Amino acid sequence: MPKIPDDIIRRIQDIAKIEEVVGDFVTLRKAGVNLTGLCPFHDDKNDGNFIVRPSTLSYDRPGRNSYRCFVCDAKGGPVQFLMAHERLSFPDAIRWLGKKYNEPVDDVPLNYTPPPPRPAPPPLPVLEIPRSYVARTMTIAQQQLILFIYWLELLPWDDEQRARLQKTLWMYCVGGWRDGRVVFWQIDHNGVPRAAKLMRYLPDGHRKKDEHPGWIYNQDGCRQRLEPDKHEIVKPLFGSHLLNRYPKSVVNIVESEKTAIIMANYYGDFDSQIWLACGGLKHLQLDSLQPLIDQGRTIWLWPDKDGREAWQEVCDKLGYDQCRVYTHFFDTCWTEADGDKADVADIAIRMMRTGDKPRQTGKWQGATEQSATASDQSGATPTHEPVKIGDIITEIWHSDEPFLDPIELQDPRVRMWRETLRQRYNFNKTKAQ
Ligand SMILES: [Zn+2]
Repeated sequence: MPKIPDDIIRRIQDIAKIEEVVGDFVTLRKAGVNLTGLCPFHDDKNDGNFIVRPSTLSYDRPGRNSYRCFVCDAKGGPVQFLMAHERLSFPDAIRWLGKKYNEPVDDVPLNYTPPPPRPAPPPLPVLEIPRSYVARTMTIAQQQLILFIYWLELLPWDDEQRARLQKTLWMYCVGGWRDGRVVFWQIDHNGVPRAAKLMRYLPDGHRKKDEHPGWIYNQDGCRQRLEPDKHEIVKPLFGSHLLNRYPKSVVNIVESEKTAIIMANYYGDFDSQIWLACGGLKHLQLDSLQPLIDQGRTIWLWPDKDGREAWQEVCDKLGYDQCRVYTHFFDTCWTEADGDKADVADIAIRMMRTGDKPRQTGKWQGATEQSATASDQSGATPTHEPVKIGDIITEIWHSDEPFLDPIELQDPRVRMWRETLRQRYNFNKTKAQ
């Protein structure tokens, strides 16, 4: 049998797309940037173990144009897939691909009939986390020293801002983990907790860079109970649960959870604007904006200084005329001293320190105009009186039942405990243990 020339082999390997080749035999569905399906090399009942990294990924992404099964360890590119699945020799696999992609290889015929694809795996139920988990982490945030919250409390807020800080934290259901990490809940617009991100902050308010965020469904104990492998995991925008509670507010979207909380507490007028976060410059996905579009909301995207172009692109693709990239804040408030890496929150904090106020233009006021009356009322009610977590959660979720044992903000025991912890804590250590 004649040998296939190397340049033809290279050419075929270059044009063969793993998602199309595997897709001839396995029904694939999108899972983030990857595709998944039932592994054809073992008796697979759980979608999610067999991953296809498509050819559409950029060339520097590891595993591009390949498949891998995490159960039976089958892996390779389009050629290896055909050799393993169709028991073809290497040259026959090349011929098979030549035929599929209409690229002449040689004159040796190959009997090629793709079989009908396997039936689609049943869709996985979407992961729903019990609300009691939210309550538990919020209670931990009250009882333990969570560095993020500690840092937030030390910011140079004015009196009104300081008075509402605890309420703001509760509005976002900010929780704590036993090891000192902060827990940012991702609760959807119907009030269902879907995910929670665990992040470790340092006493200076920056994230511990060498530690990746954790997800609650992957934590010890939670993993077993929540069974993330048997569910589809959706990650709504941080703060989505505020959408239905404030149906008329303009929706501001920022990159980080930290920025959303700071800006929300900075302005404090939830009735005219609420703050959501997508978790990072690259995490603003079109489908996460869909619930906002369905509600006909006015959306302002607040990228950090280096993210304008990327978010303008998302905005253009969206083609939703009530979505704009908002740069006025940066344009009027940013100074050389803030530096090129400054994010929205950095500037707000600097302005708190220096006593500068953001200059609001007609454009900005225009955006909040539609709910101006509501904001007039709410702006005048700083919450100096004790507030109970239970009341806030009950309000957020429109539930009539009390949600958890309320912990009074002014409870002297809690205050003392936190104070003792603060004094004992050695801030030169980076671990909050
Ligand atoms: Zn397998």
